[in-house]
Amino acid sequence: MFENLSERLSGVFDRLTKQGALSEDDVKTALREVRVALLEADVSLPVARDFVKKVQDQATGQSVLKSITPGQQVIKIVHDALIDTLRGEGDPGALKIDNAPAPILMVGLQGSGKTTTTAKLAKRLTEREGKRVLMASLDVNRPAAMEQLAILGTQIGVDTLPIVKGEDPVAIAKRAKTQAALGGYDVYMLDTAGRLHIDAELIAQAAAVRDVANPRETLLVVDGLTGQDAVNVATEFDDKIGVTGVVLTRMDGDGRGGAALSMRAVTGKPIRFVGLGEKMDAIETFDPERIAGRILG
Ligand code: GDP
Repeated sequence: MFENLSERLSGVFDRLTKQGALSEDDVKTALREVRVALLEADVSLPVARDFVKKVQDQATGQSVLKSITPGQQVIKIVHDALIDTLRGEGDPGALKIDNAPAPILMVGLQGSGKTTTTAKLAKRLTEREGKRVLMASLDVNRPAAMEQLAILGTQIGVDTLPIVKGEDPVAIAKRAKTQAALGGYDVYMLDTAGRLHIDAELIAQAAAVRDVANPRETLLVVDGLTGQDAVNVATEFDDKIGVTGVVLTRMDGDGRGGAALSMRAVTGKPIRFVGLGEKMDAIETFDPERIAGRILG
């Protein structure tokens, strides 16, 4: 991932380090190129602008320009600014699941990777934290999606709520809650219905389920390959439902990476996890240092 952005930036930085002594204008020219590279990687304009301004204020100071390795110093400033832009507060991987049974609401558009991510997280909670997890699919319009969650559950050894035909999402959420309490589960995960676009019905349904489950974690799953669209989807879901974090999927693909950089800055919501493939282990806690390192190549 980020290959294009990395290549562009390493070109800019190569020139900068080869130059030796740097003037303020040299740095400004380089940062203009950084801005273009960010925009081409689908980073939103205000984020790219703020980012470059932040770097410029630090990088054109005398201590940098007069240092022995000004190019290296500028790169370090860019690196630190990337981490600063990406980082949320606290540990992104620490889910608030202290009061058993703790509900986790999973929301997102159809095809974003929501069901896969639900199962990946359930597996992680089971294996790494020793939690007993119950998963339930609320996608009553797509029986195949409900089946898919059940199949994944069998595959990873995590229980799913039995499917009852004709039940509506709120009733399923209530049944999941009761079953989780009676069955001694630590966590129950509600995989809500997705649609191709955000519409009133999707939002109304997710809100009704939220009100029944009262989750402390509402995770929005978005496709990291969709760049700026991913950020727009996140803004809208957060406005309407309220989310506690974002999972960016398909970060194994050759996306342009801008979604990661803009997400936190535009929505104010932290990226909590990244999906890195189709396999059930292909998920990582979001690590700003690692992403910054990948961006800088
Ligand atoms: P949903 O409609 O949002 O529930 O999406 P699914 O969970 O069914 O995922 C749609 C497709 O994307 C499936 O083929 C998944 O295997 C795939 N997928 C999900 N997450 C990732 C990821 O992080 N990387 C890749 N490469 N594929 C993913």
